[in-house]
Amino acid sequence: MSLLSVIVPCYNEEENVACFYEELMKNRPFFEKEGLEVEILYIDDGSRDGTVREVKKLRERDGRVRLISFSRNFGKEAAIYAGLEKSKGDYVVMMDADLQDPPSLLPEMFSHIQEGYDSVATRRVSRKGEPPIRSFFARMFYRLVNHISKTEIVDGARDYRLMTRQVVDAILRMTEYNRFTKGIFGWVGFKTRWMEYENIERAHGETKWSFWKLFLYAIDGITAFSTVPLALASVMGVLFCIIAFLMIFVIIIKTLLFGDPVGGWPSMTCIICMVSGVQLFCLGIVGQYLSKTYMEVKKRPIYLIKEEI
Ligand code: UDP
Ligand code: MG
Repeated sequence: MSLLSVIVPCYNEEENVACFYEELMKNRPFFEKEGLEVEILYIDDGSRDGTVREVKKLRERDGRVRLISFSRNFGKEAAIYAGLEKSKGDYVVMMDADLQDPPSLLPEMFSHIQEGYDSVATRRVSRKGEPPIRSFFARMFYRLVNHISKTEIVDGARDYRLMTRQVVDAILRMTEYNRFTKGIFGWVGFKTRWMEYENIERAHGETKWSFWKLFLYAIDGITAFSTVPLALASVMGVLFCIIAFLMIFVIIIKTLLFGDPVGGWPSMTCIICMVSGVQLFCLGIVGQYLSKTYMEVKKRPIYLIKEEI
């Protein structure tokens, strides 16, 4: 018999814990047919509601349910990492607690693994139910990051993935603090099969992602998988030098031909403002990378466990 580990990151998902379990267990005939044992790891990411209580209740009903509870909110990426570390399965699948990753896709995903794929990933082809401005910025982000990064980051990719133990071990070898999971999956490679489905709205509760949180996450993604922005300063520096040389040339000719009347302070002010703006912008980019490096160098743990059952 092989073991399938189901990793469910939960942050304030008390209404969804039991719903998710019921939905997952609708696959029972499939598990039996394939001879799969199942363990369900609920990773409580420092929830402030009754998530832990709900998981414990489930645990009393079914011994295959496991709980890992963080000391505070460490973020979904940390929850996924903890789940992967604690999982014992030959196959591991990650799903959101809000049923946006339908467990009914599992049998099809598993059939692809048996065809010889190492990992089966999902992507949503629509963004139904999402504010249009958010979809617009999401699309822009994917275009930009794929332009400047060698790692492929697929638009609309979910964290819903079924993987073999080999892939899980590869991911666990990436111990970086700044974890941009979508990039990490791309970076480790392996034979991946993509499955597409229409976006499903969350079962209960609200999304944990505000626009601002997503914006910062996008910057994390860029700094984690591309160093192109660092080269921007050099490129702009060269550009401004060329412009300066052209201007020197024009001014010398003009002075020789028409003399040198005093004036031009407004243009001077504009130039000073613009160039210092560019300098600060570039300094900010360097600062972003420096801060990420600083966090990595500290080697803080990715998560801390308060309770494990
Ligand atoms: N989540 C988490 N920690 C967080 C935020 C979210 O573990 O800090 C979990 C959340 O409980 C859910 C999944 O990550 O199971 C996806 O979150 P959400 O549905 O809010 O994101 P969306 O689907 O809107 O991208
Ligand atoms: Mg969701």
